[in-house]
Amino acid sequence: MKFKVLTLFPEMIMDGLKTSITGRALENNLIELEAVNIREYSLDKHGKVDDYTYGGGAGMLMQAQPVYDAWQAQVSGRKTRTIYVTPQGRLFSQAYAAELAQEEELIFLCGHYEGIDQRVLDEVVTDYVSIGDYVLTGGELPAMVMIDAISRLIPGVLHNEESAETESFHRNLLEYPQYSRPEVWHGQKVPDVLLSGDHRKIAAWRMEQSEKLTRERRPDLYAKYERQEAVIQVLLGEKRLHIHMIENLRRGRGEVICWKDRAVCVYDPDCRLGMFTVASGRDAASQLIEAIPQNILDDMRFAVTTDIAINRELADRLSGDTIRITSEGRMACYTQRTFLPVKYKDIRLLQEADQEYPASHWEWQDADQPAERIRAKAFYGAYAEDRLIGFCGWLSDGRIGYLYVEEEYRRQGIGTSLEAFCINRQLEMGFVPYGFIPKENEVALKMQINMGLYLSEGCIWWLERS
Ligand code: SAM
Repeated sequence: MKFKVLTLFPEMIMDGLKTSITGRALENNLIELEAVNIREYSLDKHGKVDDYTYGGGAGMLMQAQPVYDAWQAQVSGRKTRTIYVTPQGRLFSQAYAAELAQEEELIFLCGHYEGIDQRVLDEVVTDYVSIGDYVLTGGELPAMVMIDAISRLIPGVLHNEESAETESFHRNLLEYPQYSRPEVWHGQKVPDVLLSGDHRKIAAWRMEQSEKLTRERRPDLYAKYERQEAVIQVLLGEKRLHIHMIENLRRGRGEVICWKDRAVCVYDPDCRLGMFTVASGRDAASQLIEAIPQNILDDMRFAVTTDIAINRELADRLSGDTIRITSEGRMACYTQRTFLPVKYKDIRLLQEADQEYPASHWEWQDADQPAERIRAKAFYGAYAEDRLIGFCGWLSDGRIGYLYVEEEYRRQGIGTSLEAFCINRQLEMGFVPYGFIPKENEVALKMQINMGLYLSEGCIWWLERS
């Protein structure tokens, strides 16, 4: 991810972000940061960038010309997402950070004084973003806040122990209270359950605390959480068919966009994936698709549906766009909590140096996907005599896939071991592992059943927009 910050105070940006975790990410080239001094683009011989506002009023305004020229020098004709940080923007959030973390490049525009001439904003800005309902003296701190929050969602920036998975805002809950040594401090003891070593009890206690804290401190968030839980209950009515939607919500990725009776749409902005289900019939499908806000439809690149009627309605509503079915099949989910046996022993987490092998042995949608999956620590390889002979991992939407074993090593249980290995990793993360199997892949369908996974009775369709 490349961040470019247009500012009058470049040193503030660089100084603020070169330490700690963002500093390490910069050193490791996981993120790039450039602070561009708007003043250098001023055509005024004294480097002036501000002037009085037309119509009177207190304070100065940043002028259009230097801002535009500074921006223009960065974009060189490409359309790059350009964020103006302003108290008049959409409120920044964890979900917004996750959405922006998908971009390859972001430009931040920092205002000062009374702000920036509206005409240049109209021309260059794609997103107006506020970090809260208060007014700061300049946009540098908001830009840094956003860059920090976005960076830590980029695979590899946080180490495993600093996982972003269980933090506040995950599933619309605040994080539970935490304690470190000593066991007793100022006469206060760490709650007994945390010393019990019983992981189930600890998880249950943490969940209870998260709910309590959110209810007390953030009733607005708690209402969202409750609605989401109610939708999960509806989806659980056909768990195998809806496992991708249930897990997407439980893993804190997507959001419920529409819900009426058994008609639900969940949207995952990171994957630009819309997930749709209805109990039956074209009417329900039509009402569901009708209710999806236009901005979600505009953003959506993939869809997964449980009913042909939804496919037709989507095609109708997106008329003018080409949306095509790419695959039809079943969901396979592993609903037990016990680890699966992994007979083939030499399976390892893939490293950046390994990316050429999956890149040349799989048909990838985007060329940088294997590297991205490796950085996300979601990709495992099977080795024979220290040479990679196959791989398996999970996609950014969470389903297990990319299973490949070289021809001469097939029918030896290596594929089963690779998938079992990934299932076990996901169990450790508290997930219900699942995958999607195209209906024509009979070998894979049989393999799932033999491994103890359950297939959905109903069909699932994957759609892609061109
Ligand atoms: N006159 C502006 C208004 O009333 O909306 C406030 C200008 S403020 C003093 C100067 C700059 O600080 C803004 O242009 C913006 O870039 C930045 N800024 C101030 N508060 C902010 C906030 N809450 N979120 C994002 N940026 C902010």
